[in-house]
Amino acid sequence: MIILGIETSCDETSLAVFDTEKGVLSSFTNSQVDLHNKFGGVVPEVASRNHILKVEELFSKCMEQAELTPQDLDMIAVTTAPGLIGALFVGVSFGKALGYALKIPVMPVNHLSAHILAAELENPELKPPYTALIISGGHTHIYDVDAAYNFELLAKTVDDAAGESFDKVAKMMELGYPGGPLIEKLAEGGNEKAVAFPIAMRKENNFSFSGLKTAAMNKINDNTISREDIAASFQRTVADTLILKTLRIAKETGRKNVVVAGGVACNGYIRKAFSEQKGYSVYFPSKKLCTDNGDMIAFAAHRFFKLRKFSSLIETAHDRMQHINK
Ligand code: ATP
Ligand code: MG
Ligand code: FE
Repeated sequence: MIILGIETSCDETSLAVFDTEKGVLSSFTNSQVDLHNKFGGVVPEVASRNHILKVEELFSKCMEQAELTPQDLDMIAVTTAPGLIGALFVGVSFGKALGYALKIPVMPVNHLSAHILAAELENPELKPPYTALIISGGHTHIYDVDAAYNFELLAKTVDDAAGESFDKVAKMMELGYPGGPLIEKLAEGGNEKAVAFPIAMRKENNFSFSGLKTAAMNKINDNTISREDIAASFQRTVADTLILKTLRIAKETGRKNVVVAGGVACNGYIRKAFSEQKGYSVYFPSKKLCTDNGDMIAFAAHRFFKLRKFSSLIETAHDRMQHINK
């Protein structure tokens, strides 16, 4: 089966062709990061307009590199939730129109389930059950994923997402956007023990990152500690927090396999810190598949295919999600 994956939930237009026998045949992403950089974050209307400008071009490139024609496609997979509503509409409208013209099914895909499943795309030995941590620009969620791909939400942030806290601290330091990679780079030259930031809500499974952000801001304004040291200490505290809560839930639920996915999972320090934990096998998507991509959308649709959850022509986009795909 050959599946086209379409992702337009935020500021990346990304399309990919996935062959269930041969793997990913082609994948193209247009990142709008340079457009949004000057605003210090994603401007929703600018994102929607630029998805419209790019989606068709990326589709043609995907077909060309895969050496296929649209008639060779068997199914279309498209992100329908969660994300920026206008941005999602572009992918959903494009996917539905293509499905209608080609008379093939269109499968709606939940963006967060796809972030998690990206880890399976590159690790064929990885199968549920496992504990999954998603750390992205908009979410910090821990799910228990059972053998039948039922996703149970066990913890989430009560305020900022992990990626958002990286972005906000970077903004306070006037580093640019997105902040995650810039903080990681700055932290390389710093002492991670310079500031002892506390772990918020240590005894609970839910996360809170807004206090850490404020604590970092106070240190930045103090001007007594170097930015490198603040960045390194901040990053260590985020890593310690994520590890503490994720592994506590893995232990409580008896899971030995742990998946860490989403944009923040690109962070080399966090990857290393998780990998060093004893008693668990921790899986990450490769860095390219941690941020938004069409590959994971097509792959998720393949995993969910047996459920036959195809969309009708009245399928639409949802900015917030009701529940994750099964
Ligand atoms: P969501 O998936 O929640 O809808 P999103 O799709 O915008 O949000 P992603 O594209 O998955 O999020 O991830 C983007 C986030 O990842 C940004 O907040 C960015 O700062 C963060 N990020 C990327 N690289 C790194 C890194 N090396 N270290 C820390 N954070 C990073
Ligand atoms: Mg993005
Ligand atoms: Fe994402």
